Amino acid sequence: MAPPLIECRDLTRVYRMGGGEVRALDGVSLSIEEGEYVAIMGASGSGKSTFMNLLGALDRPTSGSLRVAGAATESMGPDQLAAFRNRTIGFVFQQFNLLARTSAEDNAALPLLYSGLPSAERKKRARARLTQVGLGDRMDHHPSQLSGGQQQRVAIARALVNDPRILLADEPTGALDSQTTVEVLGIFDRLNAEGITVILVTHEQDVADHARRQIVFRDGRVLEDRR
Ligand code: ADP
Ligand code: MG
Repeated sequence: MAPPLIECRDLTRVYRMGGGEVRALDGVSLSIEEGEYVAIMGASGSGKSTFMNLLGALDRPTSGSLRVAGAATESMGPDQLAAFRNRTIGFVFQQFNLLARTSAEDNAALPLLYSGLPSAERKKRARARLTQVGLGDRMDHHPSQLSGGQQQRVAIARALVNDPRILLADEPTGALDSQTTVEVLGIFDRLNAEGITVILVTHEQDVADHARRQIVFRDGRVLEDRR
C-alpha cells in the first residue's frame, strides 16, 4: 500500500515570545491520503494556520516529524524547501495576496518565474488555469478591477499553475459573500474530483460540509477527526 501523502507524528510548534511560550501546535499525529478532501476547523487561536503553514513548508516544526509526498521536509535546506513547495503544494489565503498593479495573467504566472520556462509558455499555462477557474475574459485585469471572488479565483489559478498534488487553503472564503463562497467551493470540489488533495480551513460548518473529512482543533490538539 502506498504511504499516506501527508503523515505527521507528535507535530509541535512552540512560539517563544518575551519570557513565555505559546504551544500553537501540541503533539498532532495524523495521516492524510492522496485524494482526500479535508476541512480543518476549530476556534480562533486553536492552531489551524500554524498546522497549515507546517504542511505547506512555510514554517518548520519545533519537534515531531512531518512527511509530505514522501519528503522529510525538516532535513531540507531553504532552497530545496522552496523548490519542493513550488512543485508539490498550492497555497490559497483569505486575503488573496495578489500583487497590485499586476494583471491576472502575470499574477497567475508568478510561481513559474524561476521555472526556466520561456515567457510565452508561462503565460500559456497561466491563461489555461485562469480559464479553468472561469476568468478567461479577465486576463488583463488588475486586482483592483476584480471582485473579491474573482481575486480569489486568480489566487487559485496561481496556486494551480505548477500542477500541485496538494491544495492548501486557509480560510479561503473568509472574505467572500455567500454567493461567491459557493462559486469558490465549486472550484475546490471540482479540483478534488480531478484528484487533487484539498485541505481547507474554515469556521463555517456549511463550508466544511463540502469536505469528506473534518478535523477539529482545540488548543493545538486534535479534538475530533470525523469522516
Ligand atoms: P488559528 O489559525 O486557529 O486561529 P494560529 O495557528 O494562527 O490559530 O495560532 C495558534 C496560537 O499560536 C495562537 O495562540 C496564536 O496567538 C499563536 N501564534 C500564531 N502565530 C504566532 C507567531 N508568529 N508568534 C507568536 N505566536 C503566534
Ligand atoms: Mg488562522
